[in-house]
Amino acid sequence: MLNLEREASWAAAPGHCYVVSTPLGNLGDITARAVLVLKSVSVIACEDTRVTRQLLQYLGIERPLISYRDENERLMAETLLERLKNNDSVALVSDAGTPTINDPGFRLVRACRKAGVPVVPLPGPCALIAALSASGLPTDAFFFAGFVPPKSGGRQAFFESHLETTHTVVAYESCHRVERSLEAAFIALGPDRVIAVAREITKRFESFYVGPLSQVKAQCAADPVKGEYVLIIAPKGFVL
Ligand code: SAM
Repeated sequence: MLNLEREASWAAAPGHCYVVSTPLGNLGDITARAVLVLKSVSVIACEDTRVTRQLLQYLGIERPLISYRDENERLMAETLLERLKNNDSVALVSDAGTPTINDPGFRLVRACRKAGVPVVPLPGPCALIAALSASGLPTDAFFFAGFVPPKSGGRQAFFESHLETTHTVVAYESCHRVERSLEAAFIALGPDRVIAVAREITKRFESFYVGPLSQVKAQCAADPVKGEYVLIIAPKGFVL
């Protein structure tokens, strides 16, 4: 049960910047604390105002939105910092998942830290953590590599660089390149290296393919449904 007294203390405080995780696909994954903060901040800085407006509509929240995206991040970080210094509160969200993780936000958070403005994380959905936690691959030590390099030379070098790893490697990949990435991984790491491919986490076509690269590559090639992917490479020598 939610405790109303404690809930009241969750509301946004003046001059605070909140880094708010939002659902990857299933709107039920928004947290109670995120709802209260989004409801009470002065302004919500978001990537695509249409995407965030849909979430707010679902939650029955009306707050001013300001577009904060890769293209205007430098300028908006300064603008938002000024507002925070003037005691406005700001919630930073991205289209899905945790802001700043391969999404805009880093510049604002760094500027806040430099200026002594409090930054408060509201943890929640994050594709890499969701994928890793359900993969069955080792979770005790892992390296998050961001996106697999998009060009063929960089992609091949990327997988080769993880041949000898003793930790798990997690990377993001787009639907346009996943098959090329699995082919490059197969060449660099060999058919027996264990890999997990997590697709469309929390969405209708969520699926996990986990096993040796030879098997997972064939399964993905045979699956006509595409979407958003997380690739997870097991440490060398790991057996499922
Ligand atoms: N900030 C986001 C997070 O917290 O995960 C990541 C944003 S990044 C621009 C988008 C990439 O994250 C996608 O290309 C995909 O690799 C991964 N991703 C996002 N949502 C996903 C989902 N539902 N299932 C699988 N991967 C997802």
